[in-house]
Formats: sequence, structure tokens, C-alpha cells
Amino acid sequence: MPKKRKTEWTPDGAGSEFTTEVMPGIEDIKSSSDKKRKKAELSVDDYVDGVLSGNRTLLARAITLVESNSLKHIATAQEVLKKLLPATGNSLRIGITGSPGVGKSTFIEALGSSLCEEGHKVAVLAIDPSSQKTRGSVLGDKTRMEDLSRYKNAFIRPSPSGGTLGGVARKTRESILICEATGFDVIMIETVGVGQSEVTVRSMVDFFLLMILPGGGDELQGIKKGVMELADAIVINKSDGDNLTTAKVTKQEYEQAVHYIQPSTPGWFTKVFLASAINKTGIDEIWDEVKAFEAKLKELGGFEDRRKKQTLEWMYSMIEEGLKNEFYQSKKISETLSEIENKILTAALTPTKAADQLLKSFFGNK
Ligand code: GDP
Repeated sequence: MPKKRKTEWTPDGAGSEFTTEVMPGIEDIKSSSDKKRKKAELSVDDYVDGVLSGNRTLLARAITLVESNSLKHIATAQEVLKKLLPATGNSLRIGITGSPGVGKSTFIEALGSSLCEEGHKVAVLAIDPSSQKTRGSVLGDKTRMEDLSRYKNAFIRPSPSGGTLGGVARKTRESILICEATGFDVIMIETVGVGQSEVTVRSMVDFFLLMILPGGGDELQGIKKGVMELADAIVINKSDGDNLTTAKVTKQEYEQAVHYIQPSTPGWFTKVFLASAINKTGIDEIWDEVKAFEAKLKELGGFEDRRKKQTLEWMYSMIEEGLKNEFYQSKKISETLSEIENKILTAALTPTKAADQLLKSFFGNK
């Protein structure tokens, strides 16, 4: 990738705020009347016009809107999204996963900065399920990706917190659409290997990248076969210095392993790459791979097919999530659940019969 002139940046904004707020040099609400409006509630059209005109403040506010759990905000968000839909879909959606410390943020910074230099508009979103349970975040609350956040073409948003993985996924999916309507053409979604988060991210991206470390041996670093099966490419990061020899061995091991797995994308063979995010080596090759993937899938018709499938799966997962929530929050169920649990544990009731009773009591005898 040819290196072009560094995008100019003047430090007239609050640095650490960039990830959630406005970045400098971008069209912004500046007049005092607009500042007042900032606090006031926005109409659906305010959001829609703001997002479509590429206004970063309104982009951030629109994402805050979809992240809200208030029923009123959810209703407004859905109206906004409906109006934005025709302007969505024009991006490459890339998922990136790997254990904490593997170098995800360093890699995203390196790739993202390089893409910004080329004139791409890059949004980085995250799904961090750990923050829901412990309030602590595996992806880190520290100001991340400071270099990337200096580019006026970049937008970085931390993981929405609170709620179930399904709830967080809905928020991220809707944030993707908002970013696309704002004009971002590359969207990276970062996650860590916790629970189902990789499957969730796979279900919302075009290309999925697994990052691993050099070394690991027979167990392939405990990376479950299932996770490898989600990947469209595997990157062995930190392939630098003393690690390089080990990294080459690890590459061979993974190259053998991928022969035995089901490819994540039909018609695409998962390749293994060496990279050093810190030295910015191997990054261009991975981007070339992403572009080759996009071209091939578009040619085969699989690109749009996957997107369509993902959109429908999204609805079904929302139905399942909604049903589950209604079920467990209903008075009928919550009042009898512990009694039924006891009956199961004292062998007075079988689990199947218990589930049947609860479902019948919830739905009635339909
Ligand atoms: P994350 O938790 O996966 O996002 O990992 P980070 O990007 O925060 O990186 C974790 C640590 O590894 C940091 O100290 C980075 O400087 C370092 N690191 C990241 N990429 C590389 C690399 O390619 N080579 C080396 N040697 N260190 C790296």
C-alpha cells in the first residue's frame, strides 16, 4: 500500500473524547444555538439529516440513541434507522478477534491508519461481553487507538455496555448501519474470545480475522476448532524479533490445521499470515486478502447472499431474545421458577416435564 502524506490534524479537540465524540476538523455544530440544541432532544429528521451529511456529533448521538434501552429511544431509533436504510450497506465489514494482548488494537490502528491515508473512512466498533458481567472490560477502558483517532477519517466507538450479548449485538448491528449511512466504507468490529462473542461478530461481518500469537504447540493455543472455522484468515501477530522463528513454525501448524476445518465462507480457503502490528509488517498483505475476498465473493454472488442471510438471522435472533426476555420477566414464570427448580432437584419432576409446564403456563394451552 503506498504511503501518502499524513492527514493533517490540529489539536483543537479533546483528545480522549475522540472515541465517542467529535474529532477535530470535521463539520460540527459550533454556534451557540446549536450548542443548546445539543442538549435538547433531536427529532428523527435531525438525526437522519445529521448522519447523512456526515456530521460526527450527530453520528455519535445517533449511536447513543441506538444504545439506549429506553422504549421511547428504541422507537425513535427504529424510525431513524428505517430512513437511513437506503444509505446503508456500502462498506466492508471486518470482524477481528483474538485473546487479550494478542495485539488487536495495535493491528487495527496500523491497518486503520494506512486505510485513512489512502482516503478510506474507517469506523471501529467493539463487542466486549466481559463488560456486562464485571463492569470491567477485556477490551480495555484505557484510551485506545490514539494514533488512529487522530485521523479525521476515523471514528472509534467503545463497546456498548449492559444487557445481554443479544442486546449488545443489536446495538452494534444498528451502529454499523449508522456508520455506513455516515459514509464509512470500512467498518472493523473488534471482539475478544469470550463466550459466544465471536459467533455473534461473525454473524454481522463480511470477513472475519482471527489473531493469534507465535508459539503454542499441539493445542494450537487452546483456540477452539470452532473459532478457526469462523475465520476467513488467520494472522500470527508479533511475528518480529526473537518471535519470528517460532511464528514461522506456528504458521505451518495452522496451515496444516486449516486443511481439516470447514471453511467459514464457501468458495474461500482460509490462509495464514505473519504480521507485526507494531512494525507494520504484513498488514498490506492482509488488506490485499480482504480485497481479494470481497472481489471473489462478489463475483460468486456470495457477498450479497451472506448479507441477506445475516439480516434475516438478525431478526430471528431478536425474536429469540425477545421471547426469552418476556418469558423470564413474566410474573407467572418468575414466581414459580424456584419451586420448579426444587422439584427437579428432588426428582419430583423431570426437566422435560418442568419445561413443558412452564411453557404451557406462559403461552397457555395453545
Ligand atoms: P489487544 O488486547 O489484543 O488489543 O492487544 P494490544 O494491541 O493492546 O497489544 C498488547 C501489547 O502487545 C501491547 O504492549 C502492544 O504494544 C504489543 N504488541 C502489539 N502488536 C505487537 C507486535 O506486532 N509485536 C510486538 N512485539 N508487540 C506487539
